[in-house]
Amino acid sequence: MTIVTALEWASVVFSLTFFLLLPFELRARWKQRTLDGRSIREMLASASPFLPTLLLAGATTAFITTLFRAASSLAITHIATTPLSAILCVLLCDLLFYVDHRAAHRVRSYWAVSHSVHHSSPQYDQTTALRVSAVDGFTSPWFQLPAVLVGFDPLLVLASLGLIVTYQQWIHTESIGKLRWLDPIFNTPSNHRVHHSSLPEHLDKNYGGVLIVWDRLFGTYAAETGPVVYGLTTPIESCNPVTVHLHELRTLWRDLRQANSTIERLKLLVLGPEYRSTPARS
Ligand SMILES: [Zn+2]
Ligand SMILES: [Zn+2]
Repeated sequence: MTIVTALEWASVVFSLTFFLLLPFELRARWKQRTLDGRSIREMLASASPFLPTLLLAGATTAFITTLFRAASSLAITHIATTPLSAILCVLLCDLLFYVDHRAAHRVRSYWAVSHSVHHSSPQYDQTTALRVSAVDGFTSPWFQLPAVLVGFDPLLVLASLGLIVTYQQWIHTESIGKLRWLDPIFNTPSNHRVHHSSLPEHLDKNYGGVLIVWDRLFGTYAAETGPVVYGLTTPIESCNPVTVHLHELRTLWRDLRQANSTIERLKLLVLGPEYRSTPARS
């Protein structure tokens, strides 16, 4: 088995944790009497991106292949794939994922087009991991280009990114509490619950993919110290898949139309989602 194949199998294993953890979550909701129509509609809304993602799978694969091939032709060297280089590649890709994830939260146009979808659920379970924008496949690979440009095999970079993304399946759960030994080093259910919280002290925290040490290094770490409130700071209050995907984009479009100058519009596009411009006088 090649190293790339081993990483791909690891990704399959992480993806399958969905089927392992979901029954526990459903049982917990049943016991708490919160397995109602609303919670099921939220789960279905979370699962809804699966269809567009599947339909776009061919285009996404072709895009990433073309992008990574082009970058590979510009690489400064070629690094042979060995167990050691594979570990270094996963570490670099995980750091690049941190940068990507932080940009997805801190640049409003990126937030609106893509990542706000993932954070729009007011509940937190295995289906929340599926609530991702179909455009992610066209945005995130750009952030992984440095790994290809320094000479890692594009297939290894792709497998590393796949591992980092699928790793995060198991952490979208309330069924697993704090993990004393893992929480300080890895992204875990506890750390990621904080990331999905809309409480002021939790905003823009815990961006890490596999390792949470990046957050500790760059000052964005927050431990789970009490209850969290999931979802956006302004809840979308809808389970309509179209609203889930387009809500933040519509809000950005409205703000852009109300802005009174090009500079204001640029600020709205590149500054954080909390930035508000002075509305134009009508
Ligand atoms: Zn996020
Ligand atoms: Zn998440």
